[in-house]
Order: sequence, then structure tokens, then C-alpha cells
Amino acid sequence: MDILFATSNNGKFKEFKNIFSNYKLSSLKDFNISDAEENGTSFLENALIKAKHAAKYSNFFVIADDSGIVVPTLNFEPGIFSARYAGRDSNDEMNRQKIITNLSKLGLESTPAYYVCVMVGLRSENDPLPLISYGFLHGNVSINESGDGGFGYDKIFYPDGFNCSMASLNETEKNLISHRGIASKEILEKLEQQLT
Ligand code: IMP
Repeated sequence: MDILFATSNNGKFKEFKNIFSNYKLSSLKDFNISDAEENGTSFLENALIKAKHAAKYSNFFVIADDSGIVVPTLNFEPGIFSARYAGRDSNDEMNRQKIITNLSKLGLESTPAYYVCVMVGLRSENDPLPLISYGFLHGNVSINESGDGGFGYDKIFYPDGFNCSMASLNETEKNLISHRGIASKEILEKLEQQLT
């Protein structure tokens, strides 16, 4: 079975390939499809927007995710704005710096936070019964960066049960505990239940 992942993010696509190793996978880049405009107000809405956009251009089974980091002490920011927390043209470093600055203003070295991923699977653009899964990873965000791997907020995110940052874990370790890994496994189970 062919699956189209509605992402053009190489980091994410690499993670997906690891988990969906039994399937033939494509990304938006293989179809020359542009990224959808994420104008929803929830992770679920944005994941559905991305999946529907991709399903318009292919008849593969489509999977899309929307993910981010939530810091309750910072009014649950950045949430759905994680990719553009420091502004429309911001990059990962600027977004991390904004969290560090906001924590410093509150006199905090670290505070609880969680990564969340909502994943949606669609058979077609107007599939009336999308598959939906959720994954969470709890830990702390810190003003201290460490590690060389990962992307996004990984250098300042310290998952519960580990005494290193997410950016210090290798890909296999990350996939085992990550919000995206958890949501991916659940959607894969739902998909396979339907195929049997
Ligand atoms: P999305 O591509 O719209 O889902 O944006 C997700 C954003 O959330 C990314 O650009 C990162 O800033 C952040 N994010 C999501 N998952 C991760 C992760 O596993 N590590 C680090 N940052 C993440």
C-alpha cells in the first residue's frame, strides 16, 4: 500500500520512514505539492487541513500530522504556533530563544512542558471517517541548550525519565518515546485493523 505523508519537512519524513518501514512512502516533495496554509485553531483542525490538501492531489492513503510544544507556565504557548513562535519568518533557534527569554523573565531555569502530535489518516479528500490518533511526551523546557540532534525545540526539551535533552537522543531512541512515534504507531494499528 502507498502512503503519502503530507509534509515537506525532511526531519519529520525521516522519522516516519523509520516507523512505517513496511509501506511505500512519499512526501509532498515527491508530488511537487506546496504546503497547506495552517489556519485552524487546533492541532486537530490543522492536521485535517494538511491531509485534505494533500488528498486533493493524489489517490494514495494520506497521513498528516500537526505537532508542537506546550508550556503551561507560559499560558500554554507556543502550542499550534510552535513553528512560528518568534514570528512568521522565524527559525528553530529564534523560537527556542523566545522560550528561553520568557522563562528568564519569570526567573525560571526550567518548567514542565509537553510535546503533542495529532495525526490524521484519509482515504480521500472528503473521507467521512478520518483515522485520528494522539501522542504526548512530557518533560521540561530549560534555558540551557544541549545536544546536536533533532530539530525544533529538542535542544531545550528534557524528556521525563532521561537526564539529557531530546537533541541528545539518537533517532531510534527518539522514535520510541516521541509524541510523533506514539501517534504514528496508533494510526498504523488503526490502518492495519481496517485492512484485515
Ligand atoms: P508542524 O510542522 O506544523 O507540525 O510544526 C511543528 C513545530 O513544532 C515544529 O516546527 C517544531 O518547532 C515543533 N516540534 C514538533 N515536534 C517536534 C519535535 O519532535 N522536536 C522538536 N520540535 C518539534
